[in-house]
Amino acid sequence: MSGTMMHQPLTINSLIDHAARYHGATEVVSVETEGGVARSTWGEVAANARKLASALDKMGVADGARVATIAWNNRRHLEAYFGIAGSGRVTHTINPRLFPEQITYIVNHAEDKVLMFDATFLPLVAAVRNHFDTVEHFVMMGPRDDKAAATIPGLLFYDDWIETGDADHVWGDLDETLPASLCYTSGTTGNPKGVQYTHRSTVLHSLAGNQPDGMGISAMDTVMPVVPMFHVNAWGVPYIAAMNGSKLVLPGPNLDGESLARLIDAEEVTMSLGVPTIWMGLLDGLKKTGATAKSMKRTVVGGSALPPSMIPEFRDTYGVELVHAWGMTETSPLGTLNQLLQKHTHLSDDEQAEIRLGQGRPPWGVELRIVDDNGDALPHDGETQGELHIRGHWIVDSYFKRDSGTLTEDGWFDTGDIATIDADGYMIIRDRSKDIIKSGGEWISTVELENIAISHPEIANAAAIAARHKKWTERPVVVAVKAPEAEVSEEDVIKYYDGHIASWQIPDRVIFVDSLPLGATGKVLKAKLREEFGGVLEDAE
Ligand code: ADP
Repeated sequence: MSGTMMHQPLTINSLIDHAARYHGATEVVSVETEGGVARSTWGEVAANARKLASALDKMGVADGARVATIAWNNRRHLEAYFGIAGSGRVTHTINPRLFPEQITYIVNHAEDKVLMFDATFLPLVAAVRNHFDTVEHFVMMGPRDDKAAATIPGLLFYDDWIETGDADHVWGDLDETLPASLCYTSGTTGNPKGVQYTHRSTVLHSLAGNQPDGMGISAMDTVMPVVPMFHVNAWGVPYIAAMNGSKLVLPGPNLDGESLARLIDAEEVTMSLGVPTIWMGLLDGLKKTGATAKSMKRTVVGGSALPPSMIPEFRDTYGVELVHAWGMTETSPLGTLNQLLQKHTHLSDDEQAEIRLGQGRPPWGVELRIVDDNGDALPHDGETQGELHIRGHWIVDSYFKRDSGTLTEDGWFDTGDIATIDADGYMIIRDRSKDIIKSGGEWISTVELENIAISHPEIANAAAIAARHKKWTERPVVVAVKAPEAEVSEEDVIKYYDGHIASWQIPDRVIFVDSLPLGATGKVLKAKLREEFGGVLEDAE
């Protein structure tokens, strides 16, 4: 046949090869679990990834087998990402914040053969390893440590172990549709479910999610992913950084605001990514350390809704642009990113900020729709709310080891979120379908109630829930944490809602607590709050 183009599989090893070939001297800086900062390069990361792949071969780990990691964002974890997937095995990242029983369930369900972990998690692994049915090798990600060696018989140490491998190891030919990594949802309802990303879905996600209107990470950037590598592949940043040859700064276990602020200044970080709670901590850390974050240009914020006050605070005080993004484990995760359109150029800062508070538009490669309870499509008019569905190149087709039931009959994934979409494709999350409050047949958005509460200067954090009500079925109750030394009362907060929201949406009660219960990915556990406070209005008229 003539008149054809080359066909090359879209694989993860092509990303690390590119980084090594054209950006071999570009730095990868890593805060070590045992303390201190390690300086490495894409060239060294690539060489170690090959050694690791070869060491797995020598161990006799089969093609397609799952190799698990429980680790912070650091250099060894990055090497594992490429070495495991590049050699045709599957990188199974585990969230250490899950309950030990959930970790055991996940390890057994994935049938992990090797478990690699950071020293921090030695006590966790030692305590539960006897319940792991399939793990044959444990590798601690660091230099040899005699004390640790005594804890787990046969324990291997990463730095010695990869030396059994060969830096000239040649990647085999991989089909792009093979699985490359596996990540479980946090399982707030029922057992966690596994989503297995392919080489192809990962490469397309990296390409399309990193367009100028998306993450826009370039070789000029110094990127610091604060979002953990155990949470949806750190939103794809390790792959995107390799593809673009960006300098990478991996913050290790120190995720408090002060450590991050110092690291940003020391390494001249230009862009970073993480959940809103991290940035609340950073704002505090910047003030305490006096760090200026002068090098920082933008930050991608996602995982839960961006509090409205954050955009002007970062913009006006530090000159940092916030890019709001939405996604989930099932969507690799990038589903939407919020960048402006040409027609928004002449809007004022505040008008632009208003648009950017939403979750943004889908990049090429994914499509969104909203539907009603019958599954019928709703208009994209920016006002009609419906259940958000998504489909595209990097969206789950079926959960790991579950044949059916993942998609709707016509092939869309139901996100469990309630959203509006406007004519330009800007999507706004109004709620999660299991959290939204239905009062007398009308919906009240918990996100809106929370944003108002948090904008009160004496409220540090808040979560709105539905409480059972005789007359209205459900009414809103806000559970709030006061700012340090604040003396605000329940009446003050309820009064504060006046004028901010329709009067029938004003919460019936505001209950103060010392802290909100958080799940493994740092989100408020609303189910737990409903259990505790869902009955507070049962006697109300
Ligand atoms: P889990 O579903 O286990 O909580 P995910 O990390 O997959 O873990 O979370 C996905 C969910 O997080 C989305 O369905 C959505 O409800 C919420 N979410 C993610 N990003 C945003 C955002 N920018 N704004 C509001 N909610 C978000």
